Amino acid sequence: MSFVVITGASSGIGRQMAYEFARNGNDLLLVARNRENLQELKEEIISRYQVNADIFACDLSKDAKKLFVYYLEKGYDADILINNAGFGDYGRFDKGDVDKYLNMIDLNNRALVELTYCFVNEMKKKKSGQIINTGSVASFIPGPYMAVYYASKAFVLSFSLSLREELKDDGISVSVLCPAPTRTAFWDRANGQTTAVYDNVFARSDRDAARVGYLLSRNKKAFMIDGFIYKLMIRFARHLPLTLCARIVGSIQARTKRPA
Ligand code: NAP
Repeated sequence: MSFVVITGASSGIGRQMAYEFARNGNDLLLVARNRENLQELKEEIISRYQVNADIFACDLSKDAKKLFVYYLEKGYDADILINNAGFGDYGRFDKGDVDKYLNMIDLNNRALVELTYCFVNEMKKKKSGQIINTGSVASFIPGPYMAVYYASKAFVLSFSLSLREELKDDGISVSVLCPAPTRTAFWDRANGQTTAVYDNVFARSDRDAARVGYLLSRNKKAFMIDGFIYKLMIRFARHLPLTLCARIVGSIQARTKRPA
């Protein structure tokens, strides 16, 4: 049995990972902003599975450190930290809201780095632990009309793989979960429900992505992409010049709904 901290646990992939880890006998600390959703999830998990679950509600884009302070106060000892909270935004960069972009970087990157730093230094004391960071298929390619989001996920992959190498002799593994377009509230928040990249037959479910997240905790691979088709696409895309790749992704993302 392990103790697992999951951010972005109130909905979508994070929520499904909470079920997946609980089903497999792990205790949980569940983190997101929406306290009611977290409380309801905690009660459901405790009643369905014989595990302990606690919640911590906070805006990680502003207060990531508060989570770590709470964690220390409670005397918790995490085996796995899953930095999963994140959001995106769809549309032309120059027509979007710069404060939203900066808030995205604060959550997708700044909070992830801060929490990783805090937990890694705790894990180093016992020479064991695992960090799983949620990247995306977007981590591998440029993404016109979601430029800041794709760049934020490229950061997650690059940062995590570098850290994995640095920490390999400290008993700490670092992995990246790379979901494909997945049917969650993510696309509502990103205003991207009708883009071809999401609104297609290959879109994955939050359970699919969560299963891959759990698998990573077992096999400790550097990264895993959810969905066979998307694995092939990324393998192909990595052989293309980046400029051509940007043009292709841009033409797909512009389809069905013209960016405002
Ligand atoms: P989701 O259903 O919108 O879940 C996002 C989670 O993050 C929620 O639990 C949300 O809870 C939490 N969150 C958002 N802002 C937060 C903040 N400021 N502080 C703390 N928690 C915050 O979307 P999802 O698809 O499951 O996304 C999970 C991760 O997968 C993200 O990192 C996303 O980038 C990545 N991903 C998603 C897709 C996809 O197509 N859906 C594809 C690739 C990667 P609250 O609102 O309660 O805070």
